[in-house]
Amino acid sequence: TTTKEPPKIHRLDESVINRIAAGEVIQRPVSAIKELVENSLDAHSSSINVVVKDGGLKLIQVSDDGHGIRFEDLPILCERHTTSKLSKFEDLQSITSMGFRGEALASMTYVGHVTVTTITPGQLHGFRVSYRDGVMENEPKPCAAVKGTQIMIENLFYNMTARKKTLQNSNDDYPKIVDLLSRFAIHHINVGFSCRKHGAARADVHSVATSSRTDAIRAVYGVSVARNLIKIEASDDDPSSSMFKMKGFISNSNYVAKKITMVLFINDRLVECSALKRAIEIVYAATLPRASKPFVYMSITLPPEHVDVNIHPTKREVSLLNQEVIIEKIQSEVELQLTNSNETRVFEEQV
Ligand code: ADP
Ligand code: MG
Repeated sequence: TTTKEPPKIHRLDESVINRIAAGEVIQRPVSAIKELVENSLDAHSSSINVVVKDGGLKLIQVSDDGHGIRFEDLPILCERHTTSKLSKFEDLQSITSMGFRGEALASMTYVGHVTVTTITPGQLHGFRVSYRDGVMENEPKPCAAVKGTQIMIENLFYNMTARKKTLQNSNDDYPKIVDLLSRFAIHHINVGFSCRKHGAARADVHSVATSSRTDAIRAVYGVSVARNLIKIEASDDDPSSSMFKMKGFISNSNYVAKKITMVLFINDRLVECSALKRAIEIVYAATLPRASKPFVYMSITLPPEHVDVNIHPTKREVSLLNQEVIIEKIQSEVELQLTNSNETRVFEEQV
């Protein structure tokens, strides 16, 4: 007979399941850094500092001055699905924190070596503890600590040979990490950010807390961007079509770049929206004589029930309720402001 015996079905080991899941949450060093920085933001930090070695494969270190982690919570900190942010499914509706599913730290311990140093307000010393595969490797040790939390990941993907190889062969993640921190820094302007390579004297991103968005943009993207910006706002409060508020800055006709920079936050989450990006690029191409690509920073707020936050942790592309209406409104505002600024420029050049 030619029919073969069917292969036997068996249950995967917990450790295999966890490592596979972790590799999906933490796809590359920059995804780990995004999770860590969002945790620091959730902890109400006013200063967040990132240090990276070997594009994040050797070392990632994120330090903040936030509220810290309770000593009692350290044993379960890195277990899967442990969180201080969500209890009931219904809470997802109203959640304002970046995280909620309690998967990030756990995932990191399945694909790297994680060490946490933290101190809570009013304590004389902090604690340091390392984790592997979701659990503490030893009892937390008392240690000197400054306000907040420092999370260190060493040897990311040490147990995922193929992943490590492709990351080593491709260009390393450092430019992506700098780009990520730059985006956070111009949105969360009440927080100071820095990002540097391990051992480097100079930070590649450096911002101080400020109340001026253009100051933050200048600190991060440079004067050539900051001095060529137009403030932009749009909104709609018609419950029957779309409800949104948009505030931001777009580059004017003096700005020259080969590539678009589009920094988009929706309800304070860093996201991508390729439809909106394309709509804005079209306006620039049609309005400006020089074929310059724009710099765009936009912060959009929507009723929380109009965006689904229960998306895959790495899925950054969003679609919104009434997306077409919102994009059209923003597009025409961009066009209006750009045309105005272009005409002013021509006029100034003539006189
Ligand atoms: P989530 O952010 O979805 O809750 P994480 O695995 O990212 O899950 O973090 C688990 C928990 O650890 C958080 O809910 C928070 O209570 C705590 N935590 C993580 N990072 C920090 C930090 N930098 N400062 C204070 N608490 C933190
Ligand atoms: Mg988190």
